[in-house]
Amino acid sequence: MSEDVEKVIIIGSGPAGLTAGLYTARSEMRPLLFTGSEIGGQVSLTMEVENYPGFPDGITGPELIQLMQKQAERFGCRVVVDTVTEVLLDEHPFTIKTQSGKVHRAKSLILATGARPRRLGVPGEKELTGRGVSYCATCDGFFFRGKEVAVVGGGDAAIEEALFLTRYVNKVKVIHRRDQLRAHAALQQRALRNEKFEFIWNTVVTAIHGEQKVTSLSLQNVQTGEESEMPIDGVFVYVGHIPNSQLFAGKLAMDEQGYLITDRFMQTSVRGVFAAGEIQDSRFQQIATSVGQGCAAALEAEKFVAELEERAYPGEP
Ligand code: NAP
Repeated sequence: MSEDVEKVIIIGSGPAGLTAGLYTARSEMRPLLFTGSEIGGQVSLTMEVENYPGFPDGITGPELIQLMQKQAERFGCRVVVDTVTEVLLDEHPFTIKTQSGKVHRAKSLILATGARPRRLGVPGEKELTGRGVSYCATCDGFFFRGKEVAVVGGGDAAIEEALFLTRYVNKVKVIHRRDQLRAHAALQQRALRNEKFEFIWNTVVTAIHGEQKVTSLSLQNVQTGEESEMPIDGVFVYVGHIPNSQLFAGKLAMDEQGYLITDRFMQTSVRGVFAAGEIQDSRFQQIATSVGQGCAAALEAEKFVAELEERAYPGEP
């Protein structure tokens, strides 16, 4: 076990975590930030970020994350590639354990573990993941050059990624369970104008078929109950997210979907434990809002630790 008690440990390396790293580093807390299995989280899988202010021509997700990391490190944030496997919150200082077998203690924690793509949960999905079933158009779109693919979902992610796929594929069939998209108007307009798009409304996927790779989908119209089979080369699933909060089950208050509950100061149900980004935000889930929440959590963690240290050593500079 490391003998030192850190002022702050940050878990997660998406925009929320790296912003918390930048702010706590600049306030001389020497933050220790654990990245998880790879740096950047969901943003690293996004090819084009067009709505993060300051980049009028857009920027790729991996580039944006690299810049955020560099900026945090410039002020002394220690970014460590390791995954936190346990957090002990009953006693203060808090204890965290990592996959590499390290144990650390900290006066405050900032949780920014984000969210992961939701699965459809239909037969064939698991077996054919990586063989035609994908959750990342940026990673896998290239392999479908000249082919026909399906995108499941009607939100921003589904339409944005379907638009990206049109660079490679001949046709994108968007399968949505309603007859109206959830995606914002600008995206909808771009999709509706795009000749490579075809919309299959009021329809759900009930099974994915194929031996070595995806060959077809079983579909059901939710209004008529009619079932059909559609030949397809690949399927990209964008049906929302699940918060990465398993680590905190039974330790921190969560809503019924598993998102951590925070107050307006980013404080969780345990004093000194703050949360930022998609782990506590089921509503906005934007890079810009995650950055803002990471900043707020850092400012509050700094205040918490300063008050703690002032109580322990009153009058010391
Ligand atoms: P989302 O907005 O929750 O949309 C999920 C979509 O999947 C919805 O259309 C939903 O249908 C559908 N769906 C859910 N469960 C399903 C199931 N079991 N079978 C079939 N369809 C299912 O999720 P998201 O698109 O991942 O976006 C998450 C958040 O990130 C949102 O706040 C979004 O605005 C944000 N985001 C923003 C951008 C951007 O601004 N450029 C890009 C990506 C994401 P219903 O519509 O019927 O509910």
